[in-house]
Amino acid sequence: MVLRGCLTLSKNIILKLKGVSKSYPTSGGAEVLALNDVSLNLTSKGLSLVEGPRGSGKSTLLRIAGFLESPSSGSVIFANEDRTNLTPEVRLKLIRNEVGVVPPYPSLLPYLTLLENIMLPMTKKNKSLAVEMLKNLGVENIGSYPAEVPVEEQQKASIARALVNSPQLLLVDEPTASLSESGAITVMELLKKLKNEFVILTFTDDMGISKYSDEVYRLNNGILE
Ligand code: ADP
Ligand code: MG
Repeated sequence: MVLRGCLTLSKNIILKLKGVSKSYPTSGGAEVLALNDVSLNLTSKGLSLVEGPRGSGKSTLLRIAGFLESPSSGSVIFANEDRTNLTPEVRLKLIRNEVGVVPPYPSLLPYLTLLENIMLPMTKKNKSLAVEMLKNLGVENIGSYPAEVPVEEQQKASIARALVNSPQLLLVDEPTASLSESGAITVMELLKKLKNEFVILTFTDDMGISKYSDEVYRLNNGILE
């Protein structure tokens, strides 16, 4: 029990970004500064929201938090370890096991059922766990193909897919972008439920969903406030 307590304590800061900037070259030879000196601390379970208009740097920030890209400068600390510079092997391990990413549009593979889709990234294949995960998230038609179910059902399965390896951090890009108003409420209610078990960082330009979050950051022109 004591050891478990220590582990919990040491994992208290899940993600710490320190002075993170990211620039991209443009075809004209100039650079776009997508993120400008961003610092962020995610310390506990809950749902944090990064709100910002299109082009403000949200997806860039998600890719850096999710190890899909490295910053141009600054540092990324994850679960108390400096993860700024990664070997391909460590990067893959982190992507597979430590973070879950939900893209803005459910990108399930069309020729696999919902269940097969979410089993695909499982590092230890466990069908009953996958079934339980889908049921817990309110996905009913687990044997159906994505095109056969409503978009919000696909979005829920997409969230399940991101959670199958029990990541320490769930990153959700524009959760309501592809949904109707009622679909958006369903999915946000689901994220609200999941925030008791996972650290969730959500990126959105939908000002209507800030009521679901515990903490709201604003991103404008790559600057986080
Ligand atoms: P958001 O998700 O808020 O819409 P992005 O992070 O996608 O914003 O983009 C932020 C800025 O960085 C934009 O100006 C975008 O054009 C630029 N950008 C993002 N990714 C790339 C890339 N791979 N190459 C060049 N420019 C990029
Ligand atoms: Mg984006």
